[in-house]
Amino acid sequence: VLQIRDLHKAYANLEVIKGVDITAHRGDVVSLIGSSGSGKSTILRCANLLEHSQQGDILFKGEPVTWKGSGHAREPADPKQILRIRTNLSMVFQQFNLWSHMTILQNVMEAPVTVLGRDKAEAEASAHAYLNKVGIADKHDAYPAQLSGGQQQRAAIARALAMEPEALLFDEPTSALDPELEQEVVRVIKALAEEGRTMMIVTHDMKMARDVSDHVVFLHQGLIEEQGTPDELFGNPKSERLKQFLSSTA
Ligand code: ATP
Ligand code: MG
Repeated sequence: VLQIRDLHKAYANLEVIKGVDITAHRGDVVSLIGSSGSGKSTILRCANLLEHSQQGDILFKGEPVTWKGSGHAREPADPKQILRIRTNLSMVFQQFNLWSHMTILQNVMEAPVTVLGRDKAEAEASAHAYLNKVGIADKHDAYPAQLSGGQQQRAAIARALAMEPEALLFDEPTSALDPELEQEVVRVIKALAEEGRTMMIVTHDMKMARDVSDHVVFLHQGLIEEQGTPDELFGNPKSERLKQFLSSTA
């Protein structure tokens, strides 16, 4: 579904992604791990075109992004393609980013109605179904501030699911949460993995990465240092850097 090929990204003179290839086939769960500043968030943001990469390709369902310009001036050329990619790669952030002035139900219905042009009654019915799926059906009339962090993050996941995306991108979905609340969110992510959803997950939670992933990518300073199945990476790490990283997170 999503292929990243030879991705290069620099902020001004600071090269932060230095040639990275990552593929998520349909139904794959790919986790990105690595220390702070290794480039994990940048890769997700380049993948859904929130950031512009200077070199390399991004293919969505086999279709490469079309670019105009080059180097720092390179940007996606086709607004329709940008919209298609953004709506099909729904992103869930560390800081939930719910709209505080809308109820949970409105948060989940908003984009399907305004972006996808869904009928309101239909969008409302599916919003209830997604809230039920993440276990907060009873909270539909509450405002974000009235929910716990774990509930807010589950609402954010329901909102992402409501776009019926091809794949979900998670950027540290549990790291703003207390340990007990974290587990509520991990359970939802596990259930989505079991459903065969395509997901790319940036996480510091090695246990979750081990449990849910088909493939794990360890990044170091903008390059892939090691990658493989969870058993390979966590059970038999080869690179010294990865060994060190794993012992520092254990
Ligand atoms: P963390 O685990 O702390 O979230 P990360 O692996 O997600 O780290 P990125 O956020 O992708 O790391 O950042 C990679 C590098 O790019 C870092 O050196 C960071 O300082 C730099 N960077 C990120 N965003 C910007 C920006 N908007 N402008 C300049 N530099 C940036
Ligand atoms: Mg990050």
